[in-house]
Amino acid sequence: MKIMTDTHIHTGQFYDVHYDPLEVIGIITDAGVEESVFSSTTSGKDDVQYAEIEQEIAVVVSRYSPDTIKPFLWYIPDYIDQGISVEMAMKGLPYKGIKLHPRAHHWDFADTRALDTLHELFEYASQHKLPVLIHTGYDAQDEANRFSSFFDEYPAARCILAHCRPLDQTIKLLAAYPNVYCDTAFVEEADLRFIMKAGFASRVLLGSDFPITHYFRSKYPPNGSGDTPTLTEQYAADLKQLRRYSGIIQTV
Ligand SMILES: [Zn+2]
Repeated sequence: MKIMTDTHIHTGQFYDVHYDPLEVIGIITDAGVEESVFSSTTSGKDDVQYAEIEQEIAVVVSRYSPDTIKPFLWYIPDYIDQGISVEMAMKGLPYKGIKLHPRAHHWDFADTRALDTLHELFEYASQHKLPVLIHTGYDAQDEANRFSSFFDEYPAARCILAHCRPLDQTIKLLAAYPNVYCDTAFVEEADLRFIMKAGFASRVLLGSDFPITHYFRSKYPPNGSGDTPTLTEQYAADLKQLRRYSGIIQTV
C-alpha cells in the first residue's frame, strides 16, 4: 500500500538541529508521497522574526506547488508586536492552513490582543475553509481542549488535534464537534485502535511529524545504541508506520 499523503511534516530549526527545507521535502517526494503539509519549526526559535520564516517557506514554494506540498502558517503571539496579521501573511504566501502550538508559544486568553488574534485566525480559517493544525499535550497548557471554544464558534474551520493528547479529551471533542479531526503523529497504535473503536476512523489523518522523528531517534537511540539513521532511512521507517496505521484505519 502506497502512502500518498503525509499531513504532518516540518522544516527548519528544531532546537540545535537545522533541517534544510528542500532536503526534507525532497526526501518526502522521492519516497513517492505526492501530497504533504509542512510548517516551520524555526517558529519555535527565540526571538524569531516572521521574515525568516517567510523566506524559508518561499524557498519551498518556489520549487514545489503549494497545492500539493502545502505550507501552513505557524502563527506565534510575537507576530502581533511584529505587526504581522494573518491577512498579511496569507497575502504574502500561498498558505493552505494555520498551525498553532500552545506549548512552544504562550497563548494568554486573558490578553485581549492575543484573544482577538486567535479569533482572527479561526475566522480566517473558517471563511477560507482552511484547516487549523493544533499541537496537543497532556496538561492545561496544551491539552486537546485548549482551543475548544473556537471549535464551537467556527464550525467551518477544520480543526486538527495533532498527537491526540490526552486521548479521552480527544475522543470527547471528536464526538462533540464534526469539524474536529486528529492526526497520527507520535500516536501509539493502541490509542489509534481506541479512536477507531470509538467510530472516528474517517476523521483520522495520517501524519508522521518527520523529521522530528529523526531528531528524537538521534537524541534518544533505542537500547542506548549510538547509530543514527540518515534522514532518508528515518523517513522510510516513518512511512512503514504510516502504512501500518493506514491499514488499521481501512479495516474499520
Ligand atoms: Zn509537529
